[in-house]
Amino acid sequence: MAARVIVIGAGPAGVRAAQALAGAGLRPTVIDEGRRDGGQIYRRQPEGFSRTYDALYGTEAARAASVHATFDALRSRIDYLPETLVWNISPGMVHLVSGTRYHALKFDALIVCSGATDRLMPVKGWQHAGTYTLGGAQVALKSQGCAVGARTVMMGTGPLLYLVAAQYVKAGAQVCAVLDTSTALQRLRALPALLSIPASLWKGLALMRVLRRAKVPIHRGVRPVEIKGTPQGGVTGVAVKLQDGAMFERACDAVALGYHLRPETQLADLAGCEFHFDEASQQWLPHTDEDGRSSVKGVYLAGDGARVRGADAAERSGRLAALAAMRDAGMAVEGIDTLRAELQRFTRFAAGLRTAFPWPAGLAASVPDDTLVCRCEAITAGELRRVVREAGAREANRAKAFSRVGMGRCQGRYCGHAGAEIIAAAACVPLSAVGRLRGQAPVKPLPMALVEDTCK
Ligand SMILES: Cc1cc2nc3c(=O)[nH]c(=O)nc-3n(C[C@H](O)[C@H](O)[C@H](O)COP(=O)(O)OP(=O)(O)OC[C@H]3O[C@@H](n4cnc5c(N)ncnc54)[C@H](O)[C@@H]3O)c2cc1C
Repeated sequence: MAARVIVIGAGPAGVRAAQALAGAGLRPTVIDEGRRDGGQIYRRQPEGFSRTYDALYGTEAARAASVHATFDALRSRIDYLPETLVWNISPGMVHLVSGTRYHALKFDALIVCSGATDRLMPVKGWQHAGTYTLGGAQVALKSQGCAVGARTVMMGTGPLLYLVAAQYVKAGAQVCAVLDTSTALQRLRALPALLSIPASLWKGLALMRVLRRAKVPIHRGVRPVEIKGTPQGGVTGVAVKLQDGAMFERACDAVALGYHLRPETQLADLAGCEFHFDEASQQWLPHTDEDGRSSVKGVYLAGDGARVRGADAAERSGRLAALAAMRDAGMAVEGIDTLRAELQRFTRFAAGLRTAFPWPAGLAASVPDDTLVCRCEAITAGELRRVVREAGAREANRAKAFSRVGMGRCQGRYCGHAGAEIIAAAACVPLSAVGRLRGQAPVKPLPMALVEDTCK
């Protein structure tokens, strides 16, 4: 086996990949931009905090404890680089920044476990201070032990919508409303697929009970209209159209927004991996085989960064990708067939979640002209439509060049999906024909004053 194996990400996928590699006698390097291991779901609280596993992770306490304990036991058998951002990948090499120091590491095998982020859609007024992603609202709670507002509205769709709302309620925060764009009928249609993992379905129903008991108003089938606010004071309220066409308004000082998740695929892109358009989730995904091999030799993708199937699947796919890497290097490995079979159940469940909480493509395509699409560059939907009409920019990167949508700090991670829907609708072409924004290094902003780290 090649000596230099790098794992990017210390979430469930990365931890299990590292465990498999170390278990076979290898010494992988594990890199994560986070201060502590655990990834998103099992994000650790800052040092010095003493909330219990039950308080922090609820029904996932045992899994969180298991992933943390595994990583703690691995620490002497891996090279761990926390607070280190992989900002670029070139053939056989990852490029890193930690603080103001940069260096590069060679690899023979690279396992990318970069996780997911919220999938977002613009709504009028979403630039007001006090608008967060659902994930961001959860990070505030888990990591800093605070709520994003005194009165928060949760809006969008997906399991995280109900999970974060319930976590806020349990923490004693006020949730003024849960506004879901998906309908009860869509949930019903998803039931057979969701029954592939009854325990997860049960956990979802338990979240609803928490919200009902706290008398949180829940509206389904809504159409977001506006996040109200002022440039000085931030968010003051939310307006949506209910399923029966009536307007609903609620005063609040924070909104948490999200439409399920999207894989964080920039690193796969920079590594040169091929992508395909996934009709089911209406997004571009890196191509992998069943075990996580990408189209680039020596590069493996696992966890939610390859496709969103949840944390339990991430653990399995992380281990599977590590086994695949070892098998490709001529090592004898066991357990591949079992992991493949187990993952099928999670794939079915993930399909159920997509049916239950679909990405409301029509909504994205029809945001009003005066709505900001790209908050980094302050570009409206009207401006984006204008470049499609007047400059013939029907392809994502061309539209970016003409309009600057997706050219700012977030590199299109938050506006890219909705921007593509707007282009497709304005150009009357299928979404797949719009293509995808090309990954660009650096994946996140870097400090201006970088110094080469010669010690590595
Ligand atoms: C904000 C958020 C909150 C979530 N909360 C829950 C929840 O409460 N319950 C639940 O069931 N599911 C939740 N999910 C989904 C859940 O996080 C995933 O299913 C699971 O964590 C996937 O595990 P993973 O190892 O693939 O990725 P993650 O756990 O996301 O881990 C990925 C790791 O990669 C690191 N990373 C990414 N890019 C780079 C880079 N360029 N350089 C260095 N490091 C990098 C990240 O810092 C992170 O630690 C959440 C998802 C998000 C995005």
